[in-house]
Amino acid sequence: MTSGIISEIRRFCTHDGDGIRTTVALKGCPLRCRWCHNPETLTSKPSLAFAAAKCVRCGRCVSACGSGVHEIKNGEHVIHRAACTGRGECERACPSSALKLYGERITAEEAVRRALTDRPFFDNSGGGVTLSGGEPLFQPEFSLEIARQVKAEGVSVMLDTSGYARPEVFDRFLPVVDKLLFDLKIIDGERHRDFTGADNAPILNNLARAVEFGSEIEIRTPVIPGVNDAETDFAAAADFLKDIGFKGRVKLLPFNALASAKYAALGLDYAFGGEEKQSCDKMRRYSDFYASIGIDCVVG
Ligand code: SF4
Ligand code: SF4
Repeated sequence: MTSGIISEIRRFCTHDGDGIRTTVALKGCPLRCRWCHNPETLTSKPSLAFAAAKCVRCGRCVSACGSGVHEIKNGEHVIHRAACTGRGECERACPSSALKLYGERITAEEAVRRALTDRPFFDNSGGGVTLSGGEPLFQPEFSLEIARQVKAEGVSVMLDTSGYARPEVFDRFLPVVDKLLFDLKIIDGERHRDFTGADNAPILNNLARAVEFGSEIEIRTPVIPGVNDAETDFAAAADFLKDIGFKGRVKLLPFNALASAKYAALGLDYAFGGEEKQSCDKMRRYSDFYASIGIDCVVG
């Protein structure tokens, strides 16, 4: 049986594709977007989040963990993350939900079983299951097996992806998924490398091939202050989409700094923690720009 590592399975999602959906968030991503809103999914290893405000310093996690990760020192809860082996005893022992471990190895069958729990809601809303992350293409066999099984059940399956994968991996998903939610972040190759740590040539090539294949695609662009929110960025993206014959919808996702709390809970620094959220005026200007050149655009 094919198995893989998930971060979590989120129910009743309304922003991960059409209708009411269950999102299977897979762990692991080859990119390192500096603004990433899902830092708990970046590595394939378990990630332990600690919400200090909820901790009552009862010390139960100290006794439950056999690896010495937790310590109460001078009345403060200290975490030695490097020692964490990801067994999750501390999370189960915590009486105040201050701890959450992201990262569980499960089979594709189990992921599908859990994902289809809310099937009646999918049927009534035009919803289904979305594979997200992290990057689902980072665990291709696992993701593909889930997608195939969901589809075999007659339920819609969508792939939320950065598009960063080898073409022979990416192409296997095209006949299986009903819709791609495809991130298009930065067209300029050098700046893409600078802000995400990865080359965008494979991403742009995969998007062009998906258009040629005839996939239903929603482009998603997170609009990040000082990264891709200049008029030249939007003009370059529009030119590229026109060049490849893209006919679908573009969804602009205005930046907000809500992920700051997640970074703090994971003990990570967040480069964009002090940024303001994008202004409505700017988002309206860019959606009007897309509309003016015949590209359907919404702000999400
Ligand atoms: S078990 Fe939970 S509440 Fe108690 S010390 Fe550990 S994290 Fe804090
Ligand atoms: S591709 Fe998505 S999950 Fe991966 S680093 Fe970028 S924003 Fe985060």
